[in-house]
Amino acid sequence: MNVLISGASVAGITLAHWLRRHGYSVTVVERAPAVRPGGYKVDIRGAALKVIERMALLDAVRAARTDVRSGSVVDASGKRVASMDGDTFGGRRHDDAELLRGDLTGLLYEATRDGVTYLFDDSMAKLSEHADGVDVVFASGRTGTYDLIVGADGLHSNTRALAFGPAQQYVRDLGYYVSISTVPNHLGLDREELTYVGPGRTALTYSTAGETTAKAMFLFSSEPLSYDRHDRAAQQRLLADAYTGEGWEVPRLIEGAQAAPDLYFDSLSKVHMERWSTGRTVLIGDAAYCASPASGQGTSLALVGAYVLAGELASAAGDHAAGFAAYEREMRPFVNANQDLGPANIKRMVMRTKGQVRISMMMLALLNRMPGKERMMAKAIEPIHKAANAIALKEY
Ligand SMILES: Cc1cc2nc3c(=O)[nH]c(=O)nc-3n(C[C@H](O)[C@H](O)[C@H](O)COP(=O)(O)OP(=O)(O)OC[C@H]3O[C@@H](n4cnc5c(N)ncnc54)[C@H](O)[C@@H]3O)c2cc1C
Repeated sequence: MNVLISGASVAGITLAHWLRRHGYSVTVVERAPAVRPGGYKVDIRGAALKVIERMALLDAVRAARTDVRSGSVVDASGKRVASMDGDTFGGRRHDDAELLRGDLTGLLYEATRDGVTYLFDDSMAKLSEHADGVDVVFASGRTGTYDLIVGADGLHSNTRALAFGPAQQYVRDLGYYVSISTVPNHLGLDREELTYVGPGRTALTYSTAGETTAKAMFLFSSEPLSYDRHDRAAQQRLLADAYTGEGWEVPRLIEGAQAAPDLYFDSLSKVHMERWSTGRTVLIGDAAYCASPASGQGTSLALVGAYVLAGELASAAGDHAAGFAAYEREMRPFVNANQDLGPANIKRMVMRTKGQVRISMMMLALLNRMPGKERMMAKAIEPIHKAANAIALKEY
């Protein structure tokens, strides 16, 4: 079988790996000129770690860990109100791994580049399905016919738009925006994360192992903003406006974000679809079930979804409709459990009012003085671990 995957990121490359292992012929089309390097830190937890292990990439993933050693919440003067070890702060335990998204996709790409055809700098423009396959016209003008099409092209999925209809039907904004960029490490952080919480707007900065720069991340609540997703200057203005007058190091971080080469800016959104497949086309990862960055589980969902889809297609031995149905059956409860995390987490990350900020700072200061605070925090992050393990992975 001949499969075209749209999107060379976590979901797309992982799927390419597993489909190739099951004997499929795989082409991946990616809009960017290469697998995108760098990016923010992402977590691999629970079942997703097993997928990495089955790909024989566990040691490489461990070696690429961010190694963030501590995390603190700071007040406007920069005083650390509460501090804990980096794993507890980031909601990780046991072997859970945190690494930069670009490091993960780089590892996955290196593991699949032989035996998979990658078409960079291109995108699907038109799909025409018929009894024997799907004819694809690409933006570059090249054409091809494939047995199956897989959309692994993220929250703003092109495949979803072409095969299922406009995003408005499926994408639900949570009422927040997120931005992240590479900035100078002006605080001299060494594998440390600092979070500042203002009313309706949170700002954080961290440095990771082996990087001379830092990242600045901003999360703020807002009515829907109207802007062009490809207009970086407009996004920089919206970000600066949202943080006007904010304390701590926020002005310097905003200044850094204005000059950053890699500003990311988007709404915090979830994707809900009744079905993830139609005819010969199926979706995985953020394209199908984005849980929002606030869930902390998007990367793990992408890894597990790719593994399960490839396995169920192989088990269905050529009956793609049966394979797609089994993929949905296996993944639905896992997706639901993880999508539920986002709205609850974001309420803890962004406080609505000054009063909420004050109370939460008092509670954090109290927690910081308590013996066994790490144990209490570990309890607080129990839901994410439950969700991360809410699937029994089959051996395919
Ligand atoms: C700020 C931020 C912080 C996050 N933090 C975490 C975290 O801590 N833990 C976690 O698990 N997850 C986190 N995530 C989520 C995680 O990054 C995503 O859930 C995960 O990357 C989804 O993978 P994906 O492959 O489905 O989609 P994506 O990684 O979005 O990849 C989509 C790919 O498709 C390509 N593409 C897009 N359009 C086209 C097209 N027309 N044609 C061809 N290719 C196309 C893109 O260039 C990209 O390579 C975070 C996300 C953000 C934005």
